[in-house]
Amino acid sequence: MEFGITDEQQAIQETARKFARDKIAPGYQAREGTGVIEPELIREMGALGLVAGDLPEEFGGFGLDGVSAGLIMEEIAYADLNVAYVQLLASLMGQIVVTHARPEVAQAWAPKMVAGEKIVALGLTEPRGGSDAAHLQLKAERTGNAEFVLNGEKTSMSLSDQADAAVIFARTSGEDDGARGVSAFLVPLDGPGITQSRFSDLGSEAVGRGSVFFDSVRVPAENMLGDEGQGFRQVMQGFDYSRALIGLQCLGAARASLDETWPYITERHAFGAPLAQFQGVSFPLAEAETDYKAARLICFETLWRRDAGLPHTSEAAMAKWLAPKKSVDIIHQCLLTHGHSGYSRDLPHQQRLRDVIGLEIGDGTAQIMKLIVAREKVGRAAVQYG
Ligand SMILES: Cc1cc2nc3c(=O)[nH]c(=O)nc-3n(C[C@H](O)[C@H](O)[C@H](O)COP(=O)(O)OP(=O)(O)OC[C@H]3O[C@@H](n4cnc5c(N)ncnc54)[C@H](O)[C@@H]3O)c2cc1C
Repeated sequence: MEFGITDEQQAIQETARKFARDKIAPGYQAREGTGVIEPELIREMGALGLVAGDLPEEFGGFGLDGVSAGLIMEEIAYADLNVAYVQLLASLMGQIVVTHARPEVAQAWAPKMVAGEKIVALGLTEPRGGSDAAHLQLKAERTGNAEFVLNGEKTSMSLSDQADAAVIFARTSGEDDGARGVSAFLVPLDGPGITQSRFSDLGSEAVGRGSVFFDSVRVPAENMLGDEGQGFRQVMQGFDYSRALIGLQCLGAARASLDETWPYITERHAFGAPLAQFQGVSFPLAEAETDYKAARLICFETLWRRDAGLPHTSEAAMAKWLAPKKSVDIIHQCLLTHGHSGYSRDLPHQQRLRDVIGLEIGDGTAQIMKLIVAREKVGRAAVQYG
């Protein structure tokens, strides 16, 4: 068993760390006020291979493995969990585009995603619910052979008003026949018939979630990803990858809070001694370190299994519920350890806590992840269908 990383992986980790700490971290709290991630920052990340460096070289990528993408994710999220959404979506959507888009569509979009010039969002969730995603209702009707017309609403879409396009899951079968009748389309978000509204969220304001409304939006048939009626099954496979990356995204933020809290307990004094001498202070942090390491190992094992071509659905689901949950607990503990100042907006723990809570829900809740783990163990016996 090998727990080390290669020289190449270490090199990209160091590049990401330097860029993230010099260029991204200083703006973390300010971005909450502006509500956007600076486009020039994203392009700088792209030039260094930090946006979707895991895409193949023929699409402008650097051909990085999943473990490298995970190492980058940790470093970006350590500096700003919200900027890391850009990498997350670019890796997930980029893999979907290069694997399932028609070659000319993939060539038109993927290199720009890698360069940080175009953002592609994910449009799966609808107002009626996100967990039961296969019963989505947004309609795509074929008009002749050349195009589809989309009508309906997607909601809770991350980066919706900063994105140039979105992968939209739509029902092409006419009737609600579950996953069988769902197709996926790459849809530019600046076309006629598209309107948007942004939510006011607890955290991650720089990402911005919103609803996107489709009123007779025409999409060329060539923008379909995968085969008609197979979009859900084909495209959802990519989500095992994003689940491990989300785990590391949350843990990156938790690591930052831990790294700020250990020195604090040696500097701050109470009852004539540094806080570090009170085991009531140090033991919760020791437990946090243990939880951090356990969750991180599951995330990296998932990526390692993916890179080795091994099944990793179960591990990905474990990573997606455990890592956000532990990160919330860890950051909360760090906030409490800072006493009254931890509760202040002057320190970043409260913002990290609010940001990380979002990823306990986004991309699937803990319950849905546990359902997947159970399904991988005992098959459909673990799943109730209504
Ligand atoms: C920060 C953030 C970012 C997001 N980004 C995106 C995005 O970019 N694109 C996108 O399409 N969506 C996005 N989402 C939406 C997200 O994927 C959904 O919110 C999520 O899948 C849950 O769907 P829901 O909110 O409709 O809850 P529901 O499906 O209504 O579920 C409500 C509650 O019931 C529980 N529940 C549901 N079914 C079961 C069951 N069978 N067993 C046990 N418990 C169950 C759930 O776990 C949850 O606690 C994002 C959400 C957040 C918070």
